[in-house]
Amino acid sequence: MHWADVIAKEVAETCEHPLIATGISPTGIIHVGSLREAITGESIRSAVASKGKDVRLVYLIDSFDPLRKRYEFLPEEYEKYTGMPICMIPCPCGGHKNYAHHFIQPFLDAVDSLEVHCEIVWTHELYAKGEFAKWIDLAITKRQEVIQILHEVTGKDADPNFSPYDPLCPDCGRFCKPKFDEYEFPYLGYECKCGSTGKVDIRKMEGKLKWRLEWPAKWMIFGTSAEPFGKDHAAAGGSYDSGKRIVSEIFGGKAPYPISYEFVQLKSGGQIVQMHKSLGSAVTGLDAIHMTPPEVLNYLFLRSQPNRAIDYDYGMGLLDMTDEYDRMEKAYFANEFTEAEENNVSAYVIAQHNHVPESLPLQISYRHLVNVVQMAKDFDNVLEILGRTEDMSKATDFDIKRLETRVGCIRFWLDNFAPDNVKFSIQPKVPEGIEITADEKSYFKALAARLADDAWTADSINAAVTDVAKDSIGNKAAFKAMYRILIGKNMGPRLGPFLASMDRGFVVERLQQASQ
Ligand SMILES: [Zn+2]
Ligand SMILES: [Zn+2]
Repeated sequence: MHWADVIAKEVAETCEHPLIATGISPTGIIHVGSLREAITGESIRSAVASKGKDVRLVYLIDSFDPLRKRYEFLPEEYEKYTGMPICMIPCPCGGHKNYAHHFIQPFLDAVDSLEVHCEIVWTHELYAKGEFAKWIDLAITKRQEVIQILHEVTGKDADPNFSPYDPLCPDCGRFCKPKFDEYEFPYLGYECKCGSTGKVDIRKMEGKLKWRLEWPAKWMIFGTSAEPFGKDHAAAGGSYDSGKRIVSEIFGGKAPYPISYEFVQLKSGGQIVQMHKSLGSAVTGLDAIHMTPPEVLNYLFLRSQPNRAIDYDYGMGLLDMTDEYDRMEKAYFANEFTEAEENNVSAYVIAQHNHVPESLPLQISYRHLVNVVQMAKDFDNVLEILGRTEDMSKATDFDIKRLETRVGCIRFWLDNFAPDNVKFSIQPKVPEGIEITADEKSYFKALAARLADDAWTADSINAAVTDVAKDSIGNKAAFKAMYRILIGKNMGPRLGPFLASMDRGFVVERLQQASQ
């Protein structure tokens, strides 16, 4: 059984209305790893739903977290906002409600395209609505027990000054020191470094639980049954361990089924890519969504167990990944696969989120599509070019929609991340400044004559190119010469399919021009 089904079975059996929670702290650029969390959550949700259960997926945005420091991608004036909750800091571009919105909104819009069916919850609104009040009250009144639990779980010295809750100073907007001896529900005294003193109301957005308490408090608010989270929280003595004890011993509830996942490592051309300092990452979660077909991104996170690290290779690896997805799709519909492929075929099925197509969709080799996109001026033109080598008459609306999405991903990839050696553009005429020898000229002339009444398939064209070369300049020189007169480079896409995708008249004319 696939791991998502194993978890879904367990979750479905333990309760009537399961709730899967997942979350993100949008304090800066959203990383590819956050996608793993969202997709893992959605996969469990849809797997539970397929068992006939009424299941929700809640996506919690930690919009009340403070900005810990001014990151390198932020303007200098943001120095003055450190320590403030990100929902109260202005957006850096001026186009969003606040700092949290600025970083998360584009990501949420994009996640939509992955068909992640979640309810968005902003943590600061939970505070504003008083949802945390009961749990804040317990955290304050049972503070000594909380301190003892944290001491036992983390193995660190018990800190008698530990504060489970930080009041928000109304004067400077930063989290400050509570005065627990001045607590009487719902008011808690505070004193701030800025000189301000007074009381905050814990039923309002006037203070925040520390993460180790906020997390279990959220489990209580939502009745969370399962939750994916990064392995840093799952470490021994980490916040899941302490949360498990706090939720039962302080709040009187139960911890969710933990789905801890490993991180995503960025690669390009098989090489590990280091973080980009000024951006926070070389490839953001948003980039990954824009350049990877959504079904492939789902598949990538499903084919590996959550506890296995994933390499996201945005170089040629992206093409391999898509090819593999298409292969598993084909294997699923043919019902022909090896035991070793069984897990990946299941990952393909779960990646459809309960909308598996009825029959094998149209498959166009992704590498071929990468070439066609570079030959075409728009999507209609893509369809026209594909029609020269593929039977497009049976393409369904689903096929066309998927093709259009893939074309969009390829364009984004070509513009931003593709290695130079896959890029080309067909020159409108024989490129200026290239030297053509007399032998090459006679080769082009002979080939033009042969291709004028060729069957115009990839194989027949390939045969013509090599047959004619045999008696003149030889294969290697012939291929090189062809690429030079078409794209001005010494190498290019596989010549047979490449030429077959072009209009015959265009190719013959180019050969005649070059033979002059
Ligand atoms: Zn903005
Ligand atoms: Zn203050």
